[in-house]
Amino acid sequence: EAKGSGRGRYMAYEPHMDTRREEKNQLEADLKYAIENDEIKVVFQPVVNTLTRRITGVEALARWNRAGYGPISPDIFIPAAESSGLIDQLGLSVLRKACHEAAEWSAVKLAVNISPVQFRNPGFAAQVMSILAENDIPPSRVMLEMTEGYFIHHPERAGTAIEKLKQIGVSIALDDFGSGFASIGYLRRFGFNRMKIDKSLVVALDEGGRSLEMLTATVALARSLGIPVTAEGIETEDQAAILQLCGCDELQGYLFSRPVPAEEIAQLLDAQDAPVEQRRVS
Ligand code: C2E
Ligand code: MG
Ligand code: MG
Ligand code: MG
Repeated sequence: EAKGSGRGRYMAYEPHMDTRREEKNQLEADLKYAIENDEIKVVFQPVVNTLTRRITGVEALARWNRAGYGPISPDIFIPAAESSGLIDQLGLSVLRKACHEAAEWSAVKLAVNISPVQFRNPGFAAQVMSILAENDIPPSRVMLEMTEGYFIHHPERAGTAIEKLKQIGVSIALDDFGSGFASIGYLRRFGFNRMKIDKSLVVALDEGGRSLEMLTATVALARSLGIPVTAEGIETEDQAAILQLCGCDELQGYLFSRPVPAEEIAQLLDAQDAPVEQRRVS
């Protein structure tokens, strides 16, 4: 305890530190309870083909409505799960729910975010494989999305973990490209099957500068390596048009749909599969 005016400590005692620690502990305790009581929900955001605008896949996103607080952003609770040892359970539960829903939908691809912290578990690939099998989802339908952090710090271990996942037949995407330090070289080195352009690069387009040139060059490089590109955070037709010109083959963002519950995905898929005649009258 840092009480007693910080004797022999580097940091002086500040009352707010205890408060913050208590809040963190409470958050983790609530999260643990929520995971164990099946209170983490999954929503799905469509990913569309740039040219046809048809839904080609969906991305599963975790949601937590914390009792007494309301919705907590995954940007808060995923890191909390990672640092408190809850991520393995949370991650598998999201994958299980996502597969369960996706089993009801025609062939659209299913993307699920995974935390590189889950790579620490040597049985991870085997667990993924059995969840897919339980739900009759062919691995070729599934893409696991991961961000770069771990790759920079533990390239060897990341490489091994990814190799195992690719062996079971799922594909892997480098998520949030452009938000950190990952380079195009990573795509090749780890055998990523897809690059996802972070929404910050899309937003930057509106701010001018050299954003357009950067984006164009990035997409061109990925594509020259044979790696298809999805752009995230598309909110306007202008952005969609620019990313189409850049050569992105898939787009995702509020312009097409917000993340929605599974039932709404089913309706969206039904609507796009209905004959055009029927679509007009209904
Ligand atoms: P992500 O994987 O990059 O997911 C895209 C995020 O952008 C989602 O935020 C989505 O709701 C948001 N988004 C989509 N379209 C738009 C748009 O047009 N404009 C804006 N402003 N935002 C848009 P969300 O759901 O809050 O998730 C945040 C991050 O949390 C995710 O980023 C992902 O890294 C992480 N995450 C979410 N669910 C999981 C999960 O089950 N496991 C793991 N490990 N991470 C997850
Ligand atoms: Mg993602
Ligand atoms: Mg992303
Ligand atoms: Mg993200």
